[in-house]
Amino acid sequence: MPRGDSTSKVSRWDGHGREHVVRMRRTGVLRTIGCDTCGWTRNARFLPWLKAEEHLTAAHQATVDPARTRHPSR
Ligand SMILES: [Zn+2]
Repeated sequence: MPRGDSTSKVSRWDGHGREHVVRMRRTGVLRTIGCDTCGWTRNARFLPWLKAEEHLTAAHQATVDPARTRHPSR
């Protein structure tokens, strides 16, 4: 498995515990980010994860970072 960061993703949970994922792909100097949930896509030259978080918050009210919740309470 390659360990480079050419492909990455941002995942957030919404208030209902549903996971929303925005994936990022690098194509040259551009990064394309796309939302699994609604099909939203965007080109982002800088800070694609910031755009991803913005979308997840604005479109899906998904603000909970699962990486910071290692031990779910249920
Ligand atoms: Zn979306």
